[in-house]
Amino acid sequence: MSGKQGWHHSPTEALKVGPGFSLADFDPGATPGWHGGKADAEAEMTRRGADLDALQEQLFARGKEGDTRSVLLVLQGVDSAGKDGIVSHVVGLVNPMGVKITGFGVPTEEERKHDYLWRIRNALPSAGQVGVFDRSHYEQLLVVRVHNLVPPATWETYYDQINAFEAEVAAAGTTIVKCALLISPAEQLRRLEARLDDPSKYWKYNPKDLDERGNWNEYQAAYQAIFDRCSPAAAPWYAIPGDAKWYARLAVTELLAAAMEGLGLTWPAATFDVAAEKVRIASLDPDAPEAPPATKPGPR
Ligand code: ATP
Repeated sequence: MSGKQGWHHSPTEALKVGPGFSLADFDPGATPGWHGGKADAEAEMTRRGADLDALQEQLFARGKEGDTRSVLLVLQGVDSAGKDGIVSHVVGLVNPMGVKITGFGVPTEEERKHDYLWRIRNALPSAGQVGVFDRSHYEQLLVVRVHNLVPPATWETYYDQINAFEAEVAAAGTTIVKCALLISPAEQLRRLEARLDDPSKYWKYNPKDLDERGNWNEYQAAYQAIFDRCSPAAAPWYAIPGDAKWYARLAVTELLAAAMEGLGLTWPAATFDVAAEKVRIASLDPDAPEAPPATKPGPR
């Protein structure tokens, strides 16, 4: 695709966190793999959004007939990184009937009575669903680690536990796509400040977010450790430059669509005789709501 607008390097490869990935060398303002600007991206979002919608419907339809597979999109990022925008602009491209979105905040009293994976397990997508985690079990290796909400010797055990958990989820038929939305400190400040200029955004502003910003370097180290230690082939991380919202949304759309295409989904065959049903319909009077003559179930 060189010279033309579009993906010239698949984000599945361009954004995948591999061995040696260094957050210190990462550019949150870059648009890896994409030739073009925002307008081109919007056109591509429309095109790929239609694919995504069809793929999700195929997954849902297959789930109805016993296919146990599902997809899980995990979103992580610092405050104002754009997680909400991914949910509305990317996940919003598909039929909400087949989507299960769960946000994970500070654990509730009930959640604290259980181990940290309890609420995560409860939120996993069922067969045929696309699950979306707005924050996730990785908070145990982010906020919990940065603030030492448990002793280091305890959070240190979470890396292996999370790898084992994700291996189990993947083996049960869930395709896991983990997206880290990575913005620059300058962009975060711009976004937080913009919330104060718009009364309709006040509800999104939390003064504590500014304090948490003071732990930026600790969070960077925590993300680096996650990338280094929790990037198995069955549950890869994608490092998404997030300063350009249009790029992050485009990239996640593509990653999700590509992951779903990898499932080799097709439309379920009819469980009835299509030709015979057409004949029955043709035989009916459109203005007389009577039952047609009975028919035998057809071959699959
Ligand atoms: P967001 O910033 O994700 O849009 P929000 O500011 O509206 O969300 P909530 O979703 O209610 O707030 O909660 C998010 C907060 O919960 C974050 O500060 C996050 O670090 C914290 N949190 C999530 N999981 C845990 C956890 N396991 N332990 C402690 N804090 C957690």
